Amino acid sequence: MIYLDANATTPIDPAVLEVMMPFWRENPANASASYAAGRKARKAVETARAQVGAMIGAEAREVVFTSGATESINAVHASVRRLWPERPTLITTKAEHAAGLECAMRWEESGGTVCHIKVDANGLIDLAELDEALKSNDAALVSVLWANNETGVIQTMREIAALAHEHGALVHADAVQMIGKVPLDAKVDFMSLSGHKFHAPKGIGAMFVSQRVRFEPLIIGGGQEGGRRSGTENVPGIVGLGKAAELAMSACSSELRDAFEAQIVSEWPDAVIHGVKAPRLPNTSSLCFPGIDAAGMLILLDQVGVACSVGSACHTASLHPSHVLEAMGYEARHAASTLRFSFSRMNTMAEATEAVAKVLKAARKLRDLT
Ligand code: PLP
Repeated sequence: MIYLDANATTPIDPAVLEVMMPFWRENPANASASYAAGRKARKAVETARAQVGAMIGAEAREVVFTSGATESINAVHASVRRLWPERPTLITTKAEHAAGLECAMRWEESGGTVCHIKVDANGLIDLAELDEALKSNDAALVSVLWANNETGVIQTMREIAALAHEHGALVHADAVQMIGKVPLDAKVDFMSLSGHKFHAPKGIGAMFVSQRVRFEPLIIGGGQEGGRRSGTENVPGIVGLGKAAELAMSACSSELRDAFEAQIVSEWPDAVIHGVKAPRLPNTSSLCFPGIDAAGMLILLDQVGVACSVGSACHTASLHPSHVLEAMGYEARHAASTLRFSFSRMNTMAEATEAVAKVLKAARKLRDLT
């Protein structure tokens, strides 16, 4: 298989698996246990916390381990909403990941107000509109995707955070797709991370909670993670996350993606690359083949061993036209002709070249049929 769906999930790095194994095999201890094996597990958890902190430019104590980004996003929204009722507004966009969209709905259900800022045709947030929305000083939280999982478009987070902070609002960045791809260049109050997007296993993630802000846990119980996320720590997962964070410290190159896009566009000149005029993740290519059925392409590509996706394949396997492209002003028809290819450091140039040939063959086949 040529696996070009890294934005949905990534294969575990063998080095990550290696550091995890002892915590399943030789040392199953609970990290809260006081005997030697427990202390060893605790030490490994704290090392991982420091590794994740170093990767995102945070202090270790600002890192809270969770089951993944969906949990982190839910926890941040719930905490801000509960702790700050006198500021009832959430500012976000319609181009968020499903977790962000659903949390916005819940915010509204709890009696709050949600203000959706427009994104332009390149997927970038309209900063003037954000500034306007913040003027009433009733927003508690600005919560946006740092990099979009479907298009790879990277928001100008430094400007967004500066505007929000000027008006006293807190900032949550869903940084899931940034990790291991682009250095984080902005200071926010909360961040959500997911291990399986950067070669750690599924079911482990983290939440950055700035030490400057108050936080109320979503999951309560035994008081683990400094009371910020109860539940027995997933020691192997956390250790793997730490190692993956260490390996993700160097930004990834756009060489494969650029070569892939250049070859596609030279053979299929009316192909549209989404977000091409905006800063983009170096691994992501959201491509529309006008008039070609993307769902059909997906099937043909699957038959020849190329794994990619239509829109966002990281939630339910729906084939609904992308809400992200819709927010960028594209028609449903255009979205229905769009495929997402996302590379990881485990792909090779030979795979990119072979994928180009297979993609073009599938597109030609569908064009000839119609
Ligand atoms: N945010 C983004 C941008 C994603 O791509 C994903 C992937 O599914 C998530 C959040 C959810 O992450 P997790 O699978 O860790 O819950």
